[in-house]
Amino acid sequence: MSTQPKIKNITADEILDSRGWPTVCATITADDGNGAYASVPSGASTGSHEAHEKRDMDNSRYMGRGVLDAVDAINTIAAPKLEGTTLNQSCFDARLISIDGTENKEKLGANATLALSLAAARVGALSANLPLYRYLGGINAHRLPIPMMNILNGGAHASNNADIQEFMIMPVGFSSFREALRAGSEIYHTLGKILKEDKKSTAVGDEGGFAPDCDSELEILDYLVRAITEAGYTTDEVKIALDVAATEWFKDGTYTLPKSGEILSREALVERWDFLISRYPIISIEDPLAEDDFEGWQLITEKLGDRVMLVGDDLFVTNEKRLCKGISKGIANAILIKPNQIGTLTETMNVMNMAAEKGYKTIVSHRSGETEDTAIADLAVAMNAPFVKFGAPCRAERTAKYNRLLRIENLLGSSAVYGMI
Ligand code: PGA
Ligand code: ZN
Repeated sequence: MSTQPKIKNITADEILDSRGWPTVCATITADDGNGAYASVPSGASTGSHEAHEKRDMDNSRYMGRGVLDAVDAINTIAAPKLEGTTLNQSCFDARLISIDGTENKEKLGANATLALSLAAARVGALSANLPLYRYLGGINAHRLPIPMMNILNGGAHASNNADIQEFMIMPVGFSSFREALRAGSEIYHTLGKILKEDKKSTAVGDEGGFAPDCDSELEILDYLVRAITEAGYTTDEVKIALDVAATEWFKDGTYTLPKSGEILSREALVERWDFLISRYPIISIEDPLAEDDFEGWQLITEKLGDRVMLVGDDLFVTNEKRLCKGISKGIANAILIKPNQIGTLTETMNVMNMAAEKGYKTIVSHRSGETEDTAIADLAVAMNAPFVKFGAPCRAERTAKYNRLLRIENLLGSSAVYGMI
């Protein structure tokens, strides 16, 4: 007989995310008395190959963005089939996948399945009397990830004139996560001070980064370098990363920059990224080309793949099949990991394992619409992921995740490792 606890009760609720839109929260209790809840994020620049996010489309509530159908799917479809089963993560997720029964989580919604999957992990960790990162990762979980901090927001995350969605800093040259986070925060505040002196807006975008109007991406990158150096750091210690989110720009084989209106071929776009990485300390570019522009991805990987991380977000959507396709075509060299793009923790961990085996770097990521849930911080440490992307060191839904990493670093004590691999 199994000594593992059984699931006693499952409920769900509609709550609000950081943008004030509805999202799903699930609560699970076990027969050993433990209980936990988890909530899920939501993207704005979503890839078309992501798992289905179930929204009500009832315009009389929240402009159609309510999630009562997803909540109902948990309460009436999933809960009756899961209550009474043994609390075991891979069995739980396998059941969820089979209850849903569709390729893209269309029946339950990936927002419903992920809320359940994360809540199950939290209860499982409590029942095992382990922190979540240890429960998920086992005895080898020890690496604190390098944060990619989005300190200047553009694209679909801000109403300024920046076409590139995210301008991030990466504090790589530090001996602990705590010191790296301090550098990131000091650079963020220095950037705010510089923008203010230049009479630019210091209002922030969806991920907590500043969102001023600037003349060009060169001006923005100059600001970032200035903020790094004026805060007292060097560009050896702190690097720059971009998330272009170029899927948003792609139409009929060419790229139209949504705000400036500039039109570029894929070749011209690759030239532009080549120019920027030659001129600035950029070590990572995410979605430099569109999700289905495999020709463009092949071109950029050939040209720049040995000089910079080329990160597939919309390209891979945390999906093993998409990653397999990418591996067989030899494109990109890193993958963004967003659990709500696929819908369960097990599938997320499987794709991370596959990436690591094939030499693709993993970056565990938030979404632009977030909640106070910190499970992705534990997931990153559980999997010894080299990087995380949790936004600016500003706004509680972002800092909650960084703060969780601080806490995990303390818990790990002398076994904690930080730094580039
Ligand atoms: P999203 O943006 O959460 O709005 O999709 C984040 C990203 O593109 O990485
Ligand atoms: Zn992205």
